[in-house]
Amino acid sequence: MLCMECGATAEKGYTTDVTDLGDCLVIVRNVPCYKCAECNEIIYTGDVVQRLERIVEMAKRLMQEISIIDYSKVA
Ligand SMILES: [Zn+2]
Repeated sequence: MLCMECGATAEKGYTTDVTDLGDCLVIVRNVPCYKCAECNEIIYTGDVVQRLERIVEMAKRLMQEISIIDYSKVA
């Protein structure tokens, strides 16, 4: 996959996704992604974006200030 920012090759890897919802913070670990070797841009596939949205929705319902979720355990 090519980086959308600079056009360099993005390598497959894992990242930690952080979503700040204002009153709570959702941290999702071990999210599969493509990482640009040049500019460190993170690219998610559409599939992962959808799952992340679902995880954030789920975390919202937990009503905790900080939710730390392992992607590999919920996806
Ligand atoms: Zn790049």
